Amino acid sequence: MRKKIAAANWKMNLTLAQGEQLINDVLQAGIKLPEGHEVVFAVPFPYLMRAKALVKNYPGFYVAAQNCYSEKSGAFTGEVSAEMLQSIGVDFVVLGHSERREYFQESNAMLAKKIDLALANGLKPIFCCGEPLEIRKAETQNEYVARQLEESLYHLTAEQMQQVVIAYEPIWAIGTGLTASAAQAQDMHAYIRAQIANKYGKEIALGLTILYGGSAKPSNAGELCACPDVDGGLIGGASLVAADFTAIIGKL
Ligand code: PGA
Repeated sequence: MRKKIAAANWKMNLTLAQGEQLINDVLQAGIKLPEGHEVVFAVPFPYLMRAKALVKNYPGFYVAAQNCYSEKSGAFTGEVSAEMLQSIGVDFVVLGHSERREYFQESNAMLAKKIDLALANGLKPIFCCGEPLEIRKAETQNEYVARQLEESLYHLTAEQMQQVVIAYEPIWAIGTGLTASAAQAQDMHAYIRAQIANKYGKEIALGLTILYGGSAKPSNAGELCACPDVDGGLIGGASLVAADFTAIIGKL
């Protein structure tokens, strides 16, 4: 069976002390992760090594970077490479978050390069896709997301595709308090899985973990996670509160 994942996306929030406290509170909440369930903390770069040390003895708990650069190494002041992340034991990397696409002009083509570097360095990409509000209003969200998948992922081999996690995050639902309904999430997740089945075959599509992101919280996580094609969540705001994130983990 495919993995179920609750991933915390802290974005640019928390001091180191606050972040350590948050991870410790979640670890000490006494969660017994069932087989195949994973928890990922996507923390700011300066906290990665510390976060990794904290989760190390907790099976099923992992860390993610929130980005990496699209070139291997060299004169790119201020950037962080996939190889650097691998060298400090990072497990996953979030790529293509809508905030990065919007504020840092990350294109589908650039993300294809980042995906390649992540995979070449043993990092599992959490590839974010999702449409803005005007696309949803025009009811062309399927075509929009299909294009994101095609331009950033479809050059991968089947073996590489098996390392990828997809996060569907409708932009109109991120940080807005507006959540996609369970039916809207299920429809898009099923569509994504069907697209992957067309390209890579049914077996790979059935093994693919597809997360929902966008104002997920304890009160709606149960309904979202009960959808047959929703395999967990990429959680922003609610992941900054230990009790809320812990409750969401419990609803996987
Ligand atoms: P949110 O963010 O849960 O605060 O809406 C989700 C995300 O952007 O990953």
